[in-house]
Formats: sequence, C-alpha cells, structure tokens
Amino acid sequence: MHGFFERAGFSAYLVGGAVRDMIMGKPAHDWDVATNARPEEVSKIFKKVIPTGIAHGTVTVIFMGNHIEVTTFRTEADYSDGRHPDKVEYAGRIEEDLSRRDFTMNAIAADLKDGTLVDPFEGQKDIKAKIIRCVGEPSERFNEDGLRPVRALRFASQLGFSIDKKTLDAIPGTLPVCAKVAVERFHDELVKMVTSPKPSIGLKLMEECGIMQLFIPELCKCRGVEQKGFHNFDVLDHLFYACDGTPCTKADVRLAVLFHDIAKPAVRAVGKDGTYTFYQHENESARLTQKIMDRLHFSRQCSTYVCHLIKQHMFFYESTWTDAAVRRFLMRIEYAQNSEVLNDLFDLRFGDLYGMNCQPASPDHLKEFSERIEKILAEQSALGLKDLAVNGKDLMASGIPAGKIIGQILNELLETVVDDPDFNRKEKLLNLAQNLYAQHNVGGNAGCN
Ligand code: ATP
Ligand code: MG
Repeated sequence: MHGFFERAGFSAYLVGGAVRDMIMGKPAHDWDVATNARPEEVSKIFKKVIPTGIAHGTVTVIFMGNHIEVTTFRTEADYSDGRHPDKVEYAGRIEEDLSRRDFTMNAIAADLKDGTLVDPFEGQKDIKAKIIRCVGEPSERFNEDGLRPVRALRFASQLGFSIDKKTLDAIPGTLPVCAKVAVERFHDELVKMVTSPKPSIGLKLMEECGIMQLFIPELCKCRGVEQKGFHNFDVLDHLFYACDGTPCTKADVRLAVLFHDIAKPAVRAVGKDGTYTFYQHENESARLTQKIMDRLHFSRQCSTYVCHLIKQHMFFYESTWTDAAVRRFLMRIEYAQNSEVLNDLFDLRFGDLYGMNCQPASPDHLKEFSERIEKILAEQSALGLKDLAVNGKDLMASGIPAGKIIGQILNELLETVVDDPDFNRKEKLLNLAQNLYAQHNVGGNAGCN
C-alpha cells in the first residue's frame, strides 16, 4: 500500500489498535492508516474508496480485500461540548496527529515504508509494563472527550492492563463531561467491556470511579446486598464475577449475565428461618433490564432475547425429573428447538455458578440434562399447541362451539400430551376433547364468550 502513497508524494503510517496489537504479538483486527494526504487526494490514489467520514478527514480504502480507514493527520482544537471537536484541523506531521490520541499505547505509528515506529509518548514502554496512560494531562484529555475514561476502563478489561494512577484519579473530577457522552458511544464500550476476557476489571473500576452511577445506577444498588446462604459475594460482585465465568463471549449472553439478578435488592425479604428470599427476582430483573437496555439504545431484538434468558435462568434440574418435567422446561423456553437458546441459557448458568465463588463448575454439570433434552427433542413430542394432532378447527368440526372454550380445551389436551406423548393422536384427542367439553358444560359456562 505504501508504494501508492509514496508515488503520489505522501507518507502513511499504520496507527491505533493494529500497532498496539502487533507490539503485543497479537493479530490485528482492524486497520487504521494516518497520512498527510487529504481525503480527496486519497480518493484519487486508490480505486475503491468509500467516503465514510469526510467531515473527520476519514475515507475507507478497499485494498486487497481489506477495509482500511485512512485518516488525514489531524489536530483537534476545542471541544466545548466534551463530545466532538469544534472543528477538525489537519496537521502536517505524524507526531502532531499522535498527540491528539487518547492513550500512550494507542499513540504509536508504524511507517508503512519500512515499519519504523514513531513513539513520542513512550507507548511501547507502557505496553510492556501493561499500563494505560493518557497522552498529556489526564484531566484535560478527559474534559475534551468524556468517552475517554470509559475507553480506559474497557481497555483495562480487554487487555488486562492497569490504569496509571494519575489517569485513574482524573476520572471522578471529569464525570460531568462523561455524563454528556452520547448513549450509543457508551453502549458500544459496554458491549466491548462485557465481551472481554475479564469484564469484572472494567466493571469494578466503572463503579469505583463513578461512571456506573451515571449510566447504570440500578447496578450500583446491588452493592452491599448480601445474600448469605447462597453466595460468598454481595449481588454486585456476584454479577461482575459471573460475567468473567461465562464460557461464551456473545454480547447478548454476557449482558443477560450482567443483569440476571439486578432486581434482587428490590425483592429481597427475610424468610421465616431468617435467611433472605428473592421471590420473583428473575421476572423483576427482566423487567428492569428491559428499561435499562431501552435507555442505552439496545435494539428491541437484543433486549427481548436478553430478558428471555434472564426470565428463564432459575431452573434446577435433578436426575429425578420425569420426562414430562423436561418437556415442561422446554415449553417455557421460546425456540427451544433451536439449540443455541439452550446453549446460551446453560452458559448463563455456568457464569452464575462461577459468580458464587470464582470457581468454574465441572463441565459435566449440565451434561445429563443436555442429554435428556436432546433425547426429548429427537422424539419430536409436542411442546406447544401447534404440535398437537388436532387444532381448533378439528374441535369445532366435532361439535364444540367456537369461543374461548376451544382454547381452554386445546391447552388441556396439550397438558395431557406433555404427560403422555402417546396421547397425541387425532382420534384419542377428539374423544378426550368431548369429555372435557362435557365437564365444562356441567360447569355451565361453555361457549359463553
Ligand atoms: P479497538 O479497535 O481494539 O477497539 P483501537 O485502539 O483501534 O481499539 P479505535 O476506536 O478503533 O480503537 O480507534 C483507533 C485509534 O483512534 C485509537 O487507537 C486511538 O489512537 C484513536 N482514538 C479512538 N478514539 C479516541 C478518542 N475518543 N480520543 C482520542 N483518540 C481516540
Ligand atoms: Mg480499532
């Protein structure tokens, strides 16, 4: 790529996360290039260019199948709103461009010509020492852009780095600027944090420095809520560690884990024997999570799924469960035939168990339950009204009048079939329906409405 820039008389550098990852010996996952060529000049140099962020001096170049963000060297002047620079000014030298970047580890450039590193803020030293440190004066940098503190915490979770004391200490004083950050930007950072290898690092820091209170105050209410008898930790630490122990890193599952007990403070009561009870906390937690995820602009599709997982997280399988009990469990899980939902629910459970004592549960923990579920799904027995061998029309054709009674009888038929799948035959079910109808009729309210 460098040849194209050089022939046109420009310099170009790899910058940002790709350089940081390379220095850490990790594969890079996105490519950012900084150059002294202006966006319109970049558009002339390369064949395939998408004007993705001209206002910020950025275009996306498609080169050998890769999408490369190419940004003209910039300095950013005033940030009167703490969110966006008032104007973007182009800079002449890479060093100037690096000085506007957030952290020393992100302010290293590699010359595309020969790989020479430009590292004016000793970013390599900080990467070696695993330290996240602001470029320049932390409180100034955080007052310019309130997202930077959140990024610092997110990187701490992703990379397992610690945050330089001066940088961390600057966060509480700059919270008013952080509070103005667009909720979508916080949302993106939260997702990156919870899907990282150790979310508890960033989440704890987020609580300690006051950012959690700004965006998810409901979580802060879980601090100090003891739940002795079940757990070693209070509710908040339980939620944090549960995220660490969740086997998969899917965002929806990790979010379900983070919020699965969030309503426990609201529903906690002391039972007769003096221990705490948390009745209905799964439903209340789902309700509260819906509110939080709406406020943080998650899509309805995502929040609905997260809340479904939360609502269903309280199942306690034992070998003594009958096949009918396993079928009833499956009936409660929407789309249970799609094994991904069950995998996600089981991952939530593994997280939940880890969050009790920071010990991973045995991988065999749900093995027997999984095997029984597999067997039952393979039998294709009825798990919903649509699987019954009769439908409403069949019942009406057999003489039962239209109305609410049809739905009631179908549900009763399903109950019978779940207990005994052999009953799922048209003739048997029509017979049973007649008996049930007769019983309802004796009650005197059949077909009323
Ligand atoms: P990752 O892509 O793994 O999340 P990254 O470091 O590449 O990490 P990006 O958001 O892709 O992060 O940004 C690319 C680079 O742009 C960063 O490395 C940093 O130099 C700079 N940057 C991004 N956001 C900011 C910001 N809010 N303030 C200052 N510099 C920033
Ligand atoms: Mg990046």
